[in-house]
Parts: sequence; C-alpha cells; structure tokens
Amino acid sequence: MTTDTKATETKAFEADVSRLLHMMVHSVYSDKDVFLRELISNAADACEKLRFEAVSRPELLADDPKPRISISADADNKQITVEDNGIGMSRDDMTEALGTIARSGTRAFIERVGAGNASEDTQLIGQFGVGFYSAFMVADRVDVISRLAGSDEAWRWSSDGKGSYEIAPAPLEAAPKRGTRVVLHLMDDAVSYTGSYRLEQLAKSQSGHVPVPITLIEKPGAEARDIADGTALWVRPKSEIKPEEYTDFYRGLAGQYDEPAATIHFRAEGRQEYSVLAFVPGSRPFDLFDQDRNGRIKLYVRRVFITDEAELLPRYLRFMRGLVDSADLPLNVSREMIQESPLLAAIRKGLTNRVLGDLAKLAENEAEAYAKIWENFGVVLKEGLYEDHERREQLLKLARFRSTASGEGWRGLADYVAAMKEGQKAIFFMAGDDRARLEASPQLEGFKARGIEVLLLTDPVDSFWTSMAPEFDGKPFKSVTQGVAELSDIPLLDDARKPDTAATPEVDSFLAFVKAVLGDAVSDVKPSDRLTESAVCLVAPEHGPDRQFERLLNAAGRLDKTAKPILEINPRHERVLALAGLGDDEQAFKDDAAHLLYDEARVLDGDKPADARAFSERLARLIARGISKG
Ligand code: ADP
Ligand code: MG
Repeated sequence: MTTDTKATETKAFEADVSRLLHMMVHSVYSDKDVFLRELISNAADACEKLRFEAVSRPELLADDPKPRISISADADNKQITVEDNGIGMSRDDMTEALGTIARSGTRAFIERVGAGNASEDTQLIGQFGVGFYSAFMVADRVDVISRLAGSDEAWRWSSDGKGSYEIAPAPLEAAPKRGTRVVLHLMDDAVSYTGSYRLEQLAKSQSGHVPVPITLIEKPGAEARDIADGTALWVRPKSEIKPEEYTDFYRGLAGQYDEPAATIHFRAEGRQEYSVLAFVPGSRPFDLFDQDRNGRIKLYVRRVFITDEAELLPRYLRFMRGLVDSADLPLNVSREMIQESPLLAAIRKGLTNRVLGDLAKLAENEAEAYAKIWENFGVVLKEGLYEDHERREQLLKLARFRSTASGEGWRGLADYVAAMKEGQKAIFFMAGDDRARLEASPQLEGFKARGIEVLLLTDPVDSFWTSMAPEFDGKPFKSVTQGVAELSDIPLLDDARKPDTAATPEVDSFLAFVKAVLGDAVSDVKPSDRLTESAVCLVAPEHGPDRQFERLLNAAGRLDKTAKPILEINPRHERVLALAGLGDDEQAFKDDAAHLLYDEARVLDGDKPADARAFSERLARLIARGISKG
C-alpha cells in the first residue's frame, strides 16, 4: 500500500554500520577533515552516474544539464550542507546505501577495528575515509534529502548515528529538483568548519580537481562563489594546457612558489590505465632531508584523491611532486592493497622509468636546465646508486660530478670515460668534505701530473655508493686514497719530471727504517708513484673502506677497528733523499723525522698528529737543531 511507504519509518542500522558509526563518533582521530572530501566525492560520483545514465536517457538532465556541487555554511545554525544535482536516491537506494555496508573494503576495515589496535585504526579512517559515515565524525545529526533523477518523489533520511535512522517522504518544494542534499548538524567542537576560509581551503586542497565544478555559499543569503571549476588538469590533452596552468597547478599541489624545473604529463594506456602529472620542483622543498624520506606523489582514483602515502616513486625520487590518477583501482582502496597491489607495483615501475627517462632526455637536450636539477637534487638521486641496484647504470648516466677537470661545471661519466688516458683502467675519485681541500690533497699529485681526471666527491652519500663496487661502462671506480695507484703505465705530461723509477738502495733502507720506527701505527710504508710534489701521504689498504669512508664510518661508530693506513713516501723527494743519505750517527734525528713524516701525512689528510705531546717535542728538537746549525 502506498500510504505505508509514505509514512515515516524507523530502521535499525545493520550491525556492521553500528559498529562503524560507534567508532567514528568515538574516534580520537584528530583529522576529521576527511568528511568533506567524502561528501564531495559522493556528490561527484552522483554527477558522474547521471552523466552516464543521460547518455541513453537525455531527458534525465531536464533543464539542468550542467553538473554542480555546492557547499553552504550556516554558522548560526551550526550547519554545513553539501548538495549536488546528480543522480539522486530513491527510498530503496537510501535504505540500501545509507543503512548497510556493501563494500568489501569497508567490511575488512571494520574487521580490523574489531581486532583492536585503536591508534592504527583511527589512522585508517583518516587515510581512506569510510565514505558517507565519516559525516558522523563532525555531526551529531545528518539529514539526507534526495530526489532520484526523473522521479516525482523525494525522501528524507535522518539519523543521529546511534543505531537507527528515520526515513520519510520529503515535500518536493523542500527538496532538490534533482540530486542530493546532505545537511550536517555540527557538533559543538566542529562548528569552526563553517568558517568560509577553512571550507574553501579544505575543498580546494582535497577536492579541487574532482570533475565537477564546486561553489561555496558562505552564509545564508550569500551568493554562490566558484571555488573549483571541475576540470582536472591532468585529464586534458597536453597540447591544450598553457605553461602557466601547469605552474599554477604545481604551486597549489606542491605548496612551492617557484617555477617547476620539469613537467611530466602523460597517460598510460593498455593493461594499466593511469594519468600522471608530476613536476621536478624548481628549488629544494623544505622536507627534502626529513628522516622519513617520504615521497609526495598523490594517488587519485578516477579523479578522487585517495592518499599521498602510496609511495609511488622510490625514495631517491622523493623530491618529485605530482599525482597519479588510476582508472583501475577501486575508490575504497585500503592500505594493504596499496602495499601489495600488483596494479600499483606496475604503476610504480612505469612511473619510475618514465621519470628517469625524462630526466635523461633533459640531460641530453637541455644540459643547463638539467644541471640546475642536479644541483638541487643530485644528492638525493645518488641515494639510488646504492638503493636501486636494477637501475644503477641508468642512474650513473644521470649522475654529474665535480672533478679536477670540471671547473665550475659538471661532469658526466660518459664524458669522463671518453677523456680517459691511454692505459687508464679505472674511474678515479676522491671523496672528502670539501672540494678545496680535496684539490689540495697530495694523493692527487700523480694524477694531475699525468693529466688524469679525478672525480671530487663531497657528499657523504658518495662514500656509500662508491663502496658498493659499481662499474660504469665496464670501468670500476677507484679511490685515489686507497690501494695501489696503478699509475706507472701512464706517462707523465711533462717528461722532465719523469721519475727515476728505480729507487736507490739508500731510499729502500730508509723506508724500511721508517716502517720499523712507526711499528703498529701503519700497516706498511711504500714508495709512491701517486706523489710528485709532496713527500708523504696516507692511503687505505686495497680492500675495505677508503680514507673518507673510514672516517664516516668511524664517526658513526660503525667500525670496530680502523684499518691501519699505508704511509706512502715519495722516493724522488729532496727531503726524503737527504734523510736517506744520513749516517748511522744521526739515528735519533732520523727517528724523529720518521715520526714527523707520518704526522705530516696525517695533517695533510685533515687529521691531528698521532700524539700531540710527542709531536711538539720532536718539532722543538728539530727547530733547536736548525738554530744551532744556522
Ligand atoms: P562509496 O562512495 O564508496 O560507495 P559511501 O559510504 O561514500 O561509499 O556512500 C555509500 C553510497 O551512498 C554510495 O555508493 C551511493 O550509492 C550513496 N550516496 C552517497 N552520497 C550520495 C549522493 N550525494 N548522491 C547519490 N548517492 C549517494
Ligand atoms: Mg563515497
């Protein structure tokens, strides 16, 4: 009987809904903001459904063909209303949609809630929202007045979220002509949401790109103001988008005020369908070096924002800002799904390759623009050299370095390899804290004298990736502060300085003497072909960390014992030759000299003398000797 269905009816929520609502209302979760996103998302869905239905039944659009969402605030009455002119709901739709839980994602969510762990659960609310019911996080009563497109009835659903809801016919004049009006009667602690600035910011930031225009009515009687135009920039064809539109979008999305250094906009089709709009920022975002190293690529599903914690790019690309809009994922995608979904894994891979590919193109075609990107983000990209084994070669191609030949510019490895000397087998580098000191290092002398380029690495991360024995173009990386220099095969630039390779027997025995004097302090004392100007330097043994890496590991408390360095002595150096020529009656002086040579090498490396007191006594004796002889 029609009169029955026209009467007000009270119905109990399905048990799951009751549990969910209980949780919402008692949620300690601080970020209740998501309610607006959920309501706007539903409104947009309703408009999309109507758009779809109207393809076969255009009369449904009647005289109101343009989709629209309007948000209105009424501070005095503590109300927020979200209204759409979408498909609307019949009475049955309402009992079905707003009294039960149909979606498996939500059901799984509730099951987790039942299992305990409140803090994690309340976070889940904020992350994925739980649709319509999230309205009860801010409202102690929710009214839904809806009129199904093409129907001559309207219905009013109302609930305080405590176990039951009422459903009753609504007078047509008090209902939308088509679509749904959701009225939130705000709890006292949620009244601040009626502030127009707050509402506008929330709507724009969470839903600024839903495919339906949004207007805001700030207070009863005020005129509706457009706050979002309903076009998602990334779904528009590239050719139609002006650079300044990209820039505006980037600024809103990234919260940056500069120009993007690169824009990546594409649509993947085929097995996976998704759009990407991403930017390399023009300057370093403030959170670039945060401990958590989180990425900032947002995940959308069919133009509805889902989460920015989906980690859609590896951490070494965390400077990227942008979004991925998937056509295939369900809207209520859960955290587990995000972690495990093969769909997302495929998106991750595709996106990563695309970003690296675009960077490579830029490096090739616009070297200057690329150099700026490298200056800002190279230090982060280099993390990939030890984290992303699979793409190491690709990343090495992208990498740019300072070197003994780079001047103020940057050097790529392909150029380095092309300029390698005949007989040179490795890519040489020196790691340290600052470039000026590196360039003054005695260890570089033999390389400079032969015109061999040495990369000067000054980021801590450099010691990590170089320690993983990478190769580029079949050439190993080799630290100039470690092991044998392998320089004797490569001719000196200036023949006059050609070393007398055969060290004299005096020098040999002096080296043996120094080794005996220094004892345990060094692992060996060797003649050097690394040195041309200086008398001494220290190098690390062939295996294990080089000098700089050892320093870093030591500082981090990650080395139980420091490997003893090798003291290299320049057998052609005047001072060394003179010392080697001294007779046995100068034993005490030679002993001091051996220690001082070692301390000299330490100081050149930026360290302190091994024993400050003994050092100053030796120095004093040396000065006294100089004075008495002079
Ligand atoms: P979801 O949007 O993921 O389906 P919600 O809890 O947000 O879940 O909404 C539940 C259902 O309520 C929707 O699927 C839809 O059928 C109905 N609904 C909610 N809001 C509206 C609306 N503004 N217009 C039409 N139907 C709506
Ligand atoms: Mg929804």
